Amino acid sequence: MREAVLYGPRDVRFEERDTPTILKPTDAIIRMAVTSVCGSDLWPYRGIQPVTQPTPMGHEYCGIVEEVGSAVRSIKPGQFVIGSFFASDNTCPNCQVGYQSSCQHREFVGGAQAALLRVPLADGTLVATPDVPSDELIPSLLSTSDVLGTGWFAAAAANVQPGKTVAVVGDGAVGLLGMLSAKQMGAERLIAMSRYESRQQLAREFGATDIVTERGDEGVARIMELTNGTGADAVLECVGTQESMMQAVRSTRKGGYVSYVGVPHGVELKGEELFYAHVHLHGGPAPVRRFLPELIDLVWNGRINPGKVFDLTLPLDQVAEGYRAMDERRAIKTLLRP
Ligand SMILES: [Zn+2]
Repeated sequence: MREAVLYGPRDVRFEERDTPTILKPTDAIIRMAVTSVCGSDLWPYRGIQPVTQPTPMGHEYCGIVEEVGSAVRSIKPGQFVIGSFFASDNTCPNCQVGYQSSCQHREFVGGAQAALLRVPLADGTLVATPDVPSDELIPSLLSTSDVLGTGWFAAAAANVQPGKTVAVVGDGAVGLLGMLSAKQMGAERLIAMSRYESRQQLAREFGATDIVTERGDEGVARIMELTNGTGADAVLECVGTQESMMQAVRSTRKGGYVSYVGVPHGVELKGEELFYAHVHLHGGPAPVRRFLPELIDLVWNGRINPGKVFDLTLPLDQVAEGYRAMDERRAIKTLLRP
């Protein structure tokens, strides 16, 4: 079986590797319907996160169950299933309070940019759709695996509620779907911080009412201007840099909420500024598993169309071009067909 393997900065190869097999009785093997490149795959791709050995890539997946281990009870061959980037048992204390991405038995699921994938803890990790979906639904279903689940967590962690003013820092796929999520949760005013025309357009489709093109201190000043000097009730940080994090904290009103779902790279917060900021902070790796049943239902019933973030579709063997297009910002997000 061939799959995407990262060797070093900007060096993705589609090459022959061992076909995955059941290693533990709780595993399942999935035949991928579609997969994709994540914004977080770009950190090692750009060399910002070092790659110490050839690494199979990809953690966004959905498809048909091909085989299950002897201890798997609820997941069955032939089902169409979706899982997220951390496998979880869905029974431990952390899972029970909705933090499956901190499951006490979690395992990272990697190597999804391939035709077949081994998923550990299948019963706890995978959620089956009501039936085998039509082709049109598949991109939106795939988005629930990570980017929508993460955007949804960003909105939930920022306590987005009906009538609130929400700002989103970051116009990548997660930021855009954070906007869609905030809109679903009833945000009245939705401010997108975005400098790119095509992304601003999608932001508006997902419910943005205002666009702020400035960044850093100027971006903060613009948010203050738009909110009569008060700041937004909720700010979703969907990038992971020092600048984006501080932009989020400083754009939030006193008593407001900041969520952060961008994997941080070199972010440091000063205690004194946090002390006087008077904001709630919550974030981390999104517990996508908590939201999967609800998100699958919203997609299945045509209430949301998050699959619009995929603006480039390629056959899986052209995965390297999929990375290049996202790296060069020619694409928001690449969908890959095995
Ligand atoms: Zn658990």
